[in-house]
Amino acid sequence: MKIQEADAKSLLLEQGLPVPAWEVVRSADDARAAAERAFAAGADLVVVKAQVLVGGRGKAGGVKVAADADAAEAAARAILALEIKGIPVRKLLVGPAADIVREYYLGAILDRVSRRIVVMASAEGGVEIEEVARVNPGAIHRLAAHPHLGLLDWQARELAFAIGLGGAHLRDFVRIATGLVATMLANDADLVEVNPLALVRETAADGTSVERLACLDAKITLDDSALFRHPGLEALRDLDEEDPADRQAREDGINFIKLDGSIGCMVNGAGLAMTTMDLVKRAGGEPANFLDIGGGARADKVAAAMRLILADPQVSAILVNIFGGITRGDEVARGLIEARAVQTRDVPMVVRIVGTNAAEAAALLEANHFATAASLDDAAAQAVAAARSAAAAADGPGAGR
Ligand code: GDP
Ligand code: MN
Repeated sequence: MKIQEADAKSLLLEQGLPVPAWEVVRSADDARAAAERAFAAGADLVVVKAQVLVGGRGKAGGVKVAADADAAEAAARAILALEIKGIPVRKLLVGPAADIVREYYLGAILDRVSRRIVVMASAEGGVEIEEVARVNPGAIHRLAAHPHLGLLDWQARELAFAIGLGGAHLRDFVRIATGLVATMLANDADLVEVNPLALVRETAADGTSVERLACLDAKITLDDSALFRHPGLEALRDLDEEDPADRQAREDGINFIKLDGSIGCMVNGAGLAMTTMDLVKRAGGEPANFLDIGGGARADKVAAAMRLILADPQVSAILVNIFGGITRGDEVARGLIEARAVQTRDVPMVVRIVGTNAAEAAALLEANHFATAASLDDAAAQAVAAARSAAAAADGPGAGR
């Protein structure tokens, strides 16, 4: 689960990391009021930032600095009118702008290969790290945190030296880098990224200035499977940006991932679902989704899965592949019958049900005129053929293709 920058910053603050103040607003008027408060608190400039769950907001015009309340309001209006990578901007972060001396990158990820939390740092901050990795991979320095003790101070110091931070900033960097790993562990995050981690200049009223490190951006993704351990974090889910199909699937307790093909797949078990997708591909088709209804699914869950599949307009054929263990084949068949009775769109469907109560399932399906398949290869071939003829029919005779 991705969370918004402002929420990610809250989690960094909880671990004592230096984050500039901010407010989240939903209108240009509220942005103006927030900017006025920031100016009253002593800011020379304010920053207005789109809150959307995608990177590259700066490049897309979603981050603007303003020198007075009028400019802040105008910036807010402009950003609220944007769509960034297809996502309409609904919320803004407003706060005092930092006077940036230099931008660094600092991130921690769960590395599944080494089974460690890996901390990455680079002196090439601000730009997208994927770009740095492509153009100048040597500029990214990596270190695996200790599996039990987290990132150790000496490790953090090594990273600091590697990106040219020393002297007065060493202690701050160590605090921030170890805090990043602490944030990850405290929240079961699989990514915590600060880009830019910036060296900012703070100028006092008497004109003297100091430089210190601050987290100007924050990106965190949380491990969905660990959310149950953090009931408070569920509230950070941004329903505005969640795909309606993803939300429906989550509410129905179905593992669903939308893909780009035309063959909707309904399967029980993640391994069988992967196999089914492979066989659809081998038969020359493209799966429209990964869908695992889970073990012991009952008729209502089958009907819910069917609604999810049919909600995708790209689906032109459906392949149902059930291996009855705890799941009972006749229950699934009943669910399919129920679902077809109310479905709004007629899509060809091929059903393969083996295992527990397969005979009862077969009798129900036959009585209700479902197309069935004896083997998985056969099922995949039938589904691909059905999708092809649906595509040909859509093109129509003489469509010139
Ligand atoms: P992203 O583009 O989605 O990663 O958004 P960021 O929060 O990283 O902002 C993009 C860029 O805007 C940063 O790399 C900075 O150069 C600039 N920026 C962000 N916050 C500030 C700020 O407080 N002051 C100034 N001067 N620039 C900022
Ligand atoms: Mn950034």
